[in-house]
Amino acid sequence: MESQTRNCQNCKKDFTIEPEDFLFYEKIKVPAPTFCPECRFQRRFVWRNEYIFYKTNCGFCKKNIITNNSNFNNFPVYCGECWHSDKWDALEYGFDFDFSKDLFTQWYFLLQKTPNINLWGLGNINSDYSNYTGYSKNAYLSVASNCEDVYYSKLVDKSKNLFDCYISFNSNSCYENFSSSKSYNSIFLNRCSDCIDSLFLFDCKNCQNCFMSSGLRNKNFYIRNKQYTKEEYFNKINNLKISSFKNLLKLKIEFYALIKNSIHKFAHIVNSVDSYGDDILNSKNVKNSFIVTKSENAKNCWRIFDGLKDSYDINGGLNNELCYESSLAADGGYLTKFFSHSKGNKNTELVHLCINCSNCFACIGLKNKSYCILNRQYTKEQYEELVPKIIQHMSDMPYIDSKGRVYKYGEFFPSELSPFAYNETIAQEYYPLTKEEAQEQGYKWKDKEERNYTIDIKNSDIPDDINDTDESIVGKVIECLHKDCNHQCTEAFKIIPEEYQFYRRMNLPIPRLCPNCRHYERLSQRNPLKLWHRSCMKEGCTNTFETSYSPDRPEIVYCERCYQNEVY
Ligand SMILES: [Zn+2]
Ligand SMILES: [Zn+2]
Ligand SMILES: [Zn+2]
Ligand SMILES: [Zn+2]
Repeated sequence: MESQTRNCQNCKKDFTIEPEDFLFYEKIKVPAPTFCPECRFQRRFVWRNEYIFYKTNCGFCKKNIITNNSNFNNFPVYCGECWHSDKWDALEYGFDFDFSKDLFTQWYFLLQKTPNINLWGLGNINSDYSNYTGYSKNAYLSVASNCEDVYYSKLVDKSKNLFDCYISFNSNSCYENFSSSKSYNSIFLNRCSDCIDSLFLFDCKNCQNCFMSSGLRNKNFYIRNKQYTKEEYFNKINNLKISSFKNLLKLKIEFYALIKNSIHKFAHIVNSVDSYGDDILNSKNVKNSFIVTKSENAKNCWRIFDGLKDSYDINGGLNNELCYESSLAADGGYLTKFFSHSKGNKNTELVHLCINCSNCFACIGLKNKSYCILNRQYTKEQYEELVPKIIQHMSDMPYIDSKGRVYKYGEFFPSELSPFAYNETIAQEYYPLTKEEAQEQGYKWKDKEERNYTIDIKNSDIPDDINDTDESIVGKVIECLHKDCNHQCTEAFKIIPEEYQFYRRMNLPIPRLCPNCRHYERLSQRNPLKLWHRSCMKEGCTNTFETSYSPDRPEIVYCERCYQNEVY
């Protein structure tokens, strides 16, 4: 089969379907997609609200809870304990498929009736304020897996004592790290690994006691890429006084300039073969994918920690195989297509909030069930007879959204059916839109709510130096510096006790921004989920590559070979 050019239903741009893609679609028995890969990323992200939370009550036990579902008046929400319990049965909300209506309209009706979980988490201890977190302890306002004591951090795995980190693995006692791993007692590391007791490093490996440098390998006592003696180093570091917010801010500005002026490798693909995208580790044949470890034969995937095999278009999760189109895959899926917030399902399609089910179609909130359609129980024979008829019906009577996009069998859930508004989801992080643009494209938008906080500490009154504060600042309502920004600013924030102790221990000042604004500030360090075909910028080199650095960016981008010559 040859590659084919199709026109995306959503952005109206052409995209290519490769022969290997057709083979995959044939293998899992789905038609070729009608949205381009980028629009499919965006559509899946609209089903993922990581950290915009609201207060409500559990619809079952009535206790106070927080949820990422602002629409809780229209969608029943249960606390995690009630939702996971067998005190209720999602089959009670099921009904027969109606051949006079399209599938997604009926599926959406089921979504509005079946209890949602307030936040998505599995196997966590003391992590009520975290979302999309698994097997973690004391995770607070974080998206994490296998972590302990992580706060205000997103996409962090197997780490401990992290504050304000974004994409970090196997680290301990770090602050404001970005895309870094195996680091200890360090702050502001960007694309570093195996660094200890260091600060403001870009692209450094195996360094200890280094400051404001880039491209270092196996170094000690470096300041601004220059070697010092141990004594000189500590003298200078002690004079930095990072405990002062003003000083820290100056260093941050210097650091961002250092990053901009450093040589950048076209992509961060380590110990991987036949792979392209960014942040790919220990993988084989992983294409157009971002933040992926230990995976094989995957395409258009994002945030995979280990063990994805023979799958396309997957967000999140581990140990999934033969899966397609998921906004949140959790773990243990096999031959599961079009799903979100689900775990351990086999041979299922169009499921949301389903756990350990097999042979289920268009179901929501089921646990340990088989042969269900729209949450109604069937026999194996009935199921096998009815599902092909519904699939055919989806093509005969597709769902058509408010902008005329046609949803036949083979599409992920329509964005307009998501319980989340566009700007509550991570679609807004990767594909930012204004309210007008979002509405024009048919997305929901959440206007800012009146908050009316009584501010205890005005932003300008926050002590400059951590040494000028005491424990009494804990729990105070502190004004956020931004307020009028596009960062889902909460306008005010509080310092929790663990956080205050961390700032004291690390000698860091009280932040000026709320956690959401801080997160958006970190996001500015990462590249889009998009690749450009470019040439190496080293004079005389003719190598080309796929890179997430767009051609109009200021950074100098080198191919692997030129980069190695330069940096080591
Ligand atoms: Zn498109
Ligand atoms: Zn803010
Ligand atoms: Zn802001
Ligand atoms: Zn080159």
